[in-house]
Amino acid sequence: MNIQHHIGDDTLMAYVNGTLPETISVVVATHLAICPECRKNVALMEDIAALYLVESEPAYHVDADPTAPDIQQLDPEIATAASTKYQTDKGVPNPLADRMPVHLEDIPWKKLIPGISHYPLSVADGSRKKGVLRLLKIAPGTPMPEHSHSGQEITMILRGSYIDDLGRFQTGDIADLDDEVWHQPVADTDKDCICLIATSAPLKFSGFFSRLLQPLVGI
Ligand SMILES: [Zn+2]
Repeated sequence: MNIQHHIGDDTLMAYVNGTLPETISVVVATHLAICPECRKNVALMEDIAALYLVESEPAYHVDADPTAPDIQQLDPEIATAASTKYQTDKGVPNPLADRMPVHLEDIPWKKLIPGISHYPLSVADGSRKKGVLRLLKIAPGTPMPEHSHSGQEITMILRGSYIDDLGRFQTGDIADLDDEVWHQPVADTDKDCICLIATSAPLKFSGFFSRLLQPLVGI
């Protein structure tokens, strides 16, 4: 897997600090399962966070356990073996597999509009104001309705690929977008593009048709 698009530093730092909504955290954890580069960044941020805690709360300073394993010192072969264990019998990495009732190939897709189906995944805090987590299946050549976000949207490609103004996104890649970005992804190969997509708040659609569509599809 040749991952070209990674998780943004702000999102990774929020993940380390435990301040991300659950929906976004699931996508981050799923990407971390297959991406040594982002795992390395997380380890670095955890080191920095630990230093900050030591400096700001000297009264609670406890020496680190010298026997604790250090992710950064893992032998590369062990690290590779660790990442292959995430290939589960549901065809996706573990943090996502835990949330899926069946294998990715057997998902009972629900049609949204021609060419686009979805499957909502449950989260502990089901309030729609906290955003949604869902699988999305886009048929080849199908454009998504153009939209931006009133919060954060993060997408991980699980199968196939898509193209938008920001480039080409293939299996394993992450699109980590804030509310500044308007984009219109188009599935670009001869097979379906399947994504895991999380929002921290409902999306904003542009155009008359999209505004009509939004309350119906709820994306
Ligand atoms: Zn990455």
